[in-house]
Amino acid sequence: MEGEKKVVAMEEEVKEEVVAVDVSLKQLSKKLDDFAKERNWEQYHNPRNLLLAMIGEVGELSELFMWKGEVPKGLPGWGEAEKEHLGEELSDVLLYLIRLSDMCGVDLGDAATRKIVKNAVKYPAPSK
Ligand SMILES: [Mg+2]
Repeated sequence: MEGEKKVVAMEEEVKEEVVAVDVSLKQLSKKLDDFAKERNWEQYHNPRNLLLAMIGEVGELSELFMWKGEVPKGLPGWGEAEKEHLGEELSDVLLYLIRLSDMCGVDLGDAATRKIVKNAVKYPAPSK
């Protein structure tokens, strides 16, 4: 019971933080680093382990779409609990991706920005 209250309090704290802050990749990266350090999990966070963990989470994300057929934008017909679960699985993938990037020495924000530019050069928008 006491543990349940603690979880609810932590969830409230996170909700307030999420509402108040436009979170950056660097902030998430720092939180992940602190989280791992506090639990002495850095020893497990090598690139291979993180990649495999991320792939596992992609599988969990895929399960949510499995057997649903075509899923329209906005997910009409999905309940709140299902959408919340989707948000959790998307977050798991993102967090492992950020951690993997960090453990590989890749600045993900910088790399993603450069990739968008590269894509724009490779696939120019049609002139109007
Ligand atoms: Mg998951």
